[in-house]
Amino acid sequence: MDFLPLFHNLKGRRVLVVGGGEIALRKVRLVQEASAYITIIAKDFCPDLIAMDAKDTADGCNGLELITGAYEHKQLLGYPDTVMVIAATNDRDLNRLVSEHAQAANMLSNVVDDPGFSTVIFPSIVDRSPIQIAISSGGDAPVLVRLLRTRFESLLPAGMAKLGSLAGSFRERVKAKFSNGADRKAFWEEVFNGPIAEQAYANNLDKAEQLLADKLENTSEFKTGEVYLVGGGPGDPDLLTFKALRLMQQADIVLYDRLVSKEVLNLVRRDATRIYVGKTAGDHPVTQDNINQKLVDYALEGNRVVRLKGGDPFIFGRGGEEIETLAEHGIPFQVVPGITAASGCASYAGIPLTHRDHAQSVRFIAGHLRSGKMDLNWPELVQPNQTLVFYMGLNGMETICQQLMEHGLDSETPAALIEKGTSARQQVFVGDLQSLPNIVRSAGAKAPTLIIVGHVVSLQDKLAWFNLSEKAQG
Ligand code: SAH
Repeated sequence: MDFLPLFHNLKGRRVLVVGGGEIALRKVRLVQEASAYITIIAKDFCPDLIAMDAKDTADGCNGLELITGAYEHKQLLGYPDTVMVIAATNDRDLNRLVSEHAQAANMLSNVVDDPGFSTVIFPSIVDRSPIQIAISSGGDAPVLVRLLRTRFESLLPAGMAKLGSLAGSFRERVKAKFSNGADRKAFWEEVFNGPIAEQAYANNLDKAEQLLADKLENTSEFKTGEVYLVGGGPGDPDLLTFKALRLMQQADIVLYDRLVSKEVLNLVRRDATRIYVGKTAGDHPVTQDNINQKLVDYALEGNRVVRLKGGDPFIFGRGGEEIETLAEHGIPFQVVPGITAASGCASYAGIPLTHRDHAQSVRFIAGHLRSGKMDLNWPELVQPNQTLVFYMGLNGMETICQQLMEHGLDSETPAALIEKGTSARQQVFVGDLQSLPNIVRSAGAKAPTLIIVGHVVSLQDKLAWFNLSEKAQG
């Protein structure tokens, strides 16, 4: 190990910076975040440093001092309380000289972009203070470090900072309650993996604090389940949200239906119980009441239940009904939006749902047949300059196209049907209101499919980008 990672308390301590350009500015911002007292020596200062100086003085909390002029050894010696020196000029030799002086005075020394002459180097930081991740390659692979940082940034919920502070404020009380280290660890693990953490991530700090206090009071019988109504998106697992993935990986029980793709389901925590509640032809479907009741029962047993749905739970997903029952039983729940089929299929088919020249509005319509009929407000649907998106419309496709033409849409209005959108098996069939049904029926398309009607469909020719080699010929 070339460098030992340490977290440095710089509060009220002096850091000396030599150099006044953009690079110095970046370091100054960092050490300022850590509440250091900063002295900068430079011939010139970039405007942001000057502005920073003015601002700090106005505040009366002057943590910044700018000294104009060339660096001299005696300046460094003149600040014996300095704990760290940062050499950030664009003169490599001068930087190294500064570093030598600093080291001779037993001060920590950082030379920007010159780890060989530094005794300390700045890591890449993921900051959810008080939680921090510092990443370094010792100067060997800065681009790799940046990539890693991006990954960690996406892994750590923004609310992690709040959770960390909350835990900090309970630390002493928890310590007093559990003298045994193993018990304490078990307690905190439950806190960080369960509803308390989720409440903090959801910015419900009062609730999180109250749950934590309750948990501390009745550790033995504490067990509240929670239900997460999660949108699993249209199929491609890369379209899941971070939150959806996190909750799926914490779940004890997952109830899912037919629209949830296998790839998405594979991301559920391996030892979670998976319960299929969808409909399959010939089977007796699980009724909605039954699903609602199951959610309640599992949660009351203390489970973390994920109700995983295709697309977005609040778009033709009966999500509202499911959480209504939960609310009636006082069971805590959260709703995680997902990418709805209209967004996913349109994007992956190269059909913008709105477009300045073609459509200023878009409608999402339930296009299923009820007793062989479709009861829709057709005159509204044939208004110009709008895009129509029909969910559940495969069986009724002929009716949809026919009715739209009968109510005044041109038979040459472009129309598309997207089968298994966003998945590797996606197929896009393009035609117009007159031709689409034949194109689709002769290809034998199967659910799930989405129908898009409107002039935006004509852009598909130019904008298609996904799965081109396997694209169906319309
Ligand atoms: N809550 C879901 C919709 C449920 S209704 C969402 O927001 O997407 C079910 C209908 O969604 C299907 O009949 C079909 O029209 C559409 N659908 C869902 N996933 C689809 C996909 N991958 N490709 C095409 N259509 C899809």
